[in-house]
Amino acid sequence: MCEFCHKHGEGKKWYLQAKNYSEDLMSDLRRRKFIADFFSKPGDLTESMGKLEKLSRAPAFVKGVLAPYISGRQKKIHFGQVLPMEDIERIFGFVSSVIRTACLCRQENLGTEQRYCYGISMAPQGGEFRKIIEEIDASYLTGPDTAGLETLTREEALDSFRQHEKEGLCHSVWTFMAPFIGGICNCDRSDCYAMRATVTYGIPVMFRAEYVAEVNPELCNGCRQCMRVCQFGAMGYSAANKKVVIDPRRCYGCGVCRASCTKDAITLNDRTSVPIAASIW
Ligand code: SF4
Ligand code: SF4
Repeated sequence: MCEFCHKHGEGKKWYLQAKNYSEDLMSDLRRRKFIADFFSKPGDLTESMGKLEKLSRAPAFVKGVLAPYISGRQKKIHFGQVLPMEDIERIFGFVSSVIRTACLCRQENLGTEQRYCYGISMAPQGGEFRKIIEEIDASYLTGPDTAGLETLTREEALDSFRQHEKEGLCHSVWTFMAPFIGGICNCDRSDCYAMRATVTYGIPVMFRAEYVAEVNPELCNGCRQCMRVCQFGAMGYSAANKKVVIDPRRCYGCGVCRASCTKDAITLNDRTSVPIAASIW
């Protein structure tokens, strides 16, 4: 179990606790302001990423001091965790509404509207979260040239997530001042700031999943399709055995490789049951 499971989930998966999505948490004015600022000033995020990129090139002792400080601060305000499709299904089983919107990271990185971000709420129609977004001046989210804030049914949302997984995107939940969870994103390393910070720059702003993937060599035919979608460099190929192998220490447990395998050769195991990866988050 990750740190947040202990802090915010009483030892169970924190993102499966309905209380962490509660509308009551939205009465906190600091949280409301944080959400409004976050979405109304996407350029601030880009600026922060520039600083992280610089820090990643700094001497090891500087990074060694500052990276844990930045991660610790992010844990209080905006931190994520990778999760596989089965846990997305569990979340969509108890939340009341799902809205889809443009991805802030892609807007900043690509300058185009890419609808990979989802607001989730225990209230209908996106609840207070939606109201905050509608009140701010964020043309990339609600402007006339966008699809705005779409309300999806549970099945529509799940279909979209399955499609994103086929595209090779990794699902992740996000806090807006912990423990409140307001959104689920579908990330890739080239465009997502969080994955870039965590994986490329080595400054974690998201936990790995509570799972680790494993390949069944009896079923694997060595086609290597799974290797094309792993964004974490966790897979290797044995030319001698003509099989793929997974390094549990690198695996983020996203399950994207599993979705790409037509032989059903990949399973996800509880991270706690894999000693070599159990304490790597
Ligand atoms: S996609 Fe499946 S069958 Fe192909 S190499 Fe990966 S695990 Fe093996
Ligand atoms: S090996 Fe791990 S990190 Fe890579 S795609 Fe599979 S589950 Fe995700």
